[in-house]
Amino acid sequence: MLKLYNTESREKEPFSPNDGQHVKMYTCGPTVYHFAHIGNFRAFLFEDVLRRTLKYLGFKVTQVMNLTDVDDKTIKGAIRDNVTLDEFTKPYKEAFFEDLKTLNVDPAEYYPQATDFIPKMIEMIQGLIDKGVAYVGADSSVYFAIRKFPRYGCLSHLHLDELRSGASNRVQNDEYDKESVSDFVLWKAYDPERDGQIYWDSPYGKGRPGWHLECSAMAMDILGSSIDIHCGGVDNMFPHHENEIAQSECYSGERFVKLWMHSEHLIVDNKKMSKSLGNFYTLRDLLAKGYSGREIRYMLIHTHYKTQLNFTFQGLEAIRSSLDRIKTFVTRLREVSGPETESVASFIVETQSRFKAALQDDLNVSLALAALFDFIRDIHSLIDQNRLGKLDALNVINFLKRIDSVLGFIPLENDEEIPEELNQLLEKRMEARKTKNWALSDQIRDQIHASGYVIEDTPTGARLKKA
Ligand SMILES: [Zn+2]
Repeated sequence: MLKLYNTESREKEPFSPNDGQHVKMYTCGPTVYHFAHIGNFRAFLFEDVLRRTLKYLGFKVTQVMNLTDVDDKTIKGAIRDNVTLDEFTKPYKEAFFEDLKTLNVDPAEYYPQATDFIPKMIEMIQGLIDKGVAYVGADSSVYFAIRKFPRYGCLSHLHLDELRSGASNRVQNDEYDKESVSDFVLWKAYDPERDGQIYWDSPYGKGRPGWHLECSAMAMDILGSSIDIHCGGVDNMFPHHENEIAQSECYSGERFVKLWMHSEHLIVDNKKMSKSLGNFYTLRDLLAKGYSGREIRYMLIHTHYKTQLNFTFQGLEAIRSSLDRIKTFVTRLREVSGPETESVASFIVETQSRFKAALQDDLNVSLALAALFDFIRDIHSLIDQNRLGKLDALNVINFLKRIDSVLGFIPLENDEEIPEELNQLLEKRMEARKTKNWALSDQIRDQIHASGYVIEDTPTGARLKKA
């Protein structure tokens, strides 16, 4: 049985979607005003592992991930660079999708962008005003009256009574902390100084939607008023998700989300990642340092999503060696050529059940990986004893493929595709060695090295590997 931790109840709960097999999932996407950093990607990869696990367990998944292309930050960036909002956000949108590809993220079914849903947002605001839970302020902005929603605070477990009388306060900013909890903005009135030429028309005058409202409108428009899982990073919990619940449930009269999931922060060398500390990394920064998407993906998902992930370069090096071990294992499996000697079925069945049980326990990836590495050790030992046949090796590879439908970093594709001329050189070298022509053999070896490959001598013959 799949159990997932629900932020709202603070408990691990058995999970099944509202309509049996089909999971409707909303994940807060990036604000496209910069290149996403590794902390952002930790959250997106947690969501990817969740999505892949659900599919691995036989569920159908429809996932929506929004792109926030209008908010305080994007508007500020566009004004600063003296370009339109669209011109400003476009390169960051494109970069985001490139980055997802690099990290082998399974694409969501929908990537709505906020600016395409403005009419829907205005419709929601009007609905909330009609129900008496939202009001137009003296500044022509529209606010949500949090005291009209008794459940306000249910997710972050805030008690309104304990806070200063928020009802008389209003907050216009998209982001704020618990100290400034108060009526939040649904429609932010236009200010030419601040917004330049960026505004939309509405019944309340020119302006633009509040960030929190954007997600509610897109989620409900695409997935319906009641969704199964809503995820995000832990910093989205308050005020963003709290506000999403309030406005969505007041609008539809239905329970908005069945299960809330949040991934913890990523820290770097035990410190908060920040530009001023010089420990701030985008995915692109790490690629430029020579790390691969595969290594970074592995690094970002290998710790349980609800614990802080301490990112270090030392850790990334350790991940690189673990990946090398897996790579060597796969290569070795492909070279097994012996007859059938021993069935691997029992090893596969046992590992499969450990792997699945770990994921079903609130996505315990580290336990799932422990099962994988035990399996690798056992199968290596069968190969050492010459007890693994070719067919069984194929069974193992197929099993790894199934596991990789969740992990997404096992090097199973022949990305080590060796250029044909190098394979021919390797054959020539073998002949030269057979005829004891050492000079020629050395010369060929140097040629191969110069092409960025090394020769590994194994009991079954020589093979090439990228240097
Ligand atoms: Zn959101």
